[in-house]
Amino acid sequence: MNLLRRFCNSVYVGANAWRERHVPFWPLERIERLQARRVRAIVRHAYEAVPFYREVMQEAGLKPGDFETAKDLVHLPLLDDGQVRRHGERFLSRRHDDRSRLLLHSTGSMSNVQKTIYRCHQSLLLTLAFSERDRAVLNSLMGKGWGQRQLFILPEGSATLAVRAFWDRATILPPKFVDRHFFAPEAPLEKALETINAIKPQVIFSYGSYADIFARWLAARNLPFNPPRVWMYGADMLSPFARHLLEKRFGCIVYTTYQASETGKIGFQCERREGFHLNVDSVVVRVVDESGNDSPPGQFGEVVVSNLCNRAMVLLNCRLGDRAAFATAPCPCGRSLPLLQSLEGRCSEVIEMASGRTMSACVLGTLFEHELHEVLAAQATQPAKGVICWRLVSLPGTDREALRARILAKAPSILEPGTKVSIEFVEKIPTGPGGKLLRAVRAG
Ligand SMILES: [Zn+2]
Repeated sequence: MNLLRRFCNSVYVGANAWRERHVPFWPLERIERLQARRVRAIVRHAYEAVPFYREVMQEAGLKPGDFETAKDLVHLPLLDDGQVRRHGERFLSRRHDDRSRLLLHSTGSMSNVQKTIYRCHQSLLLTLAFSERDRAVLNSLMGKGWGQRQLFILPEGSATLAVRAFWDRATILPPKFVDRHFFAPEAPLEKALETINAIKPQVIFSYGSYADIFARWLAARNLPFNPPRVWMYGADMLSPFARHLLEKRFGCIVYTTYQASETGKIGFQCERREGFHLNVDSVVVRVVDESGNDSPPGQFGEVVVSNLCNRAMVLLNCRLGDRAAFATAPCPCGRSLPLLQSLEGRCSEVIEMASGRTMSACVLGTLFEHELHEVLAAQATQPAKGVICWRLVSLPGTDREALRARILAKAPSILEPGTKVSIEFVEKIPTGPGGKLLRAVRAG
């Protein structure tokens, strides 16, 4: 990108970023007015330039003028991973080509298969400006904004790194604004510890599962460690035990944001670090039950998002495959952006009991939390309904047979009668597409 374009982009991001610091504190009605404006604009664009929406709206007799606010998006169909993967080109805008869009690969939550996502340059620049909302929180947790030393432990090809590389190409930042380092998560943990101790980053960015394994691995050894002030994670989950280790034992502040390649930043934690404030002016978020109806606050359902800013590939009512619930009370921090109470992993990561009742892998992990303190990583596989086979990677010094006996003894008191449990110790649990750790998989 030429220098003038990069300069203009930087001014655009800078001007928006200044405003973005204040948006979370605007009255909700003002945020919803901005959201409604963006809904009308994206639906008009979808009708005019995106084949899928042109067709479904014509079939249903809908016109862009029928869409006034985010509530009207329910008139459009719910999209799942399979549709977007198989017919991705039907969601692309005819007005965008490779000079105005970026190709990203996203891990489909429901199918665990990668799909192709395009984001328009303008929405990526806006995402950089929106990041000011969580950057303000991060800076306050860090106690400093400028000159941060950051270490990214993310797989090459991850959407986060691809977007970051785009920002570097498309904008101009003072060279010492931040001091960034990168490290491959596939490398041995000893090497990661050595790198962290040498670089002494103030903030580390990684997947939740990486932070989880690193914390458990380090806690089982008595090795010198220069902890970062903040460990920021995303993409997949961090267990409560690993969070406890990072915070209480190593003294890090654990922070996370909620994002997807399809949308960019969906939400962020505030200083209280409980739940996610949702960037609803740029991404409309719904939580729906199995029939696709909106779930009331406090009730878990599947997250459905509509990106209002990406013109290159329009995805409205897109099922993300994540399980979450809206908060039942507003956050006392003063931000009026709605709050997602908690994320409970992915819908696909569930175990089905003999009766057909399902339990999320996160809940299962919490029920056996005490026993799982002794493992580096765990994955529940399900060869058949009502059968759970744990794959465990044990820590050095663990008495495997004693651990097996304790889990098997506890299972009947926690799981439905008739649930069969077995345990297999393995050296390593292979990660899923995009390097994410699946906490539950259905075998066969
Ligand atoms: Zn808050």
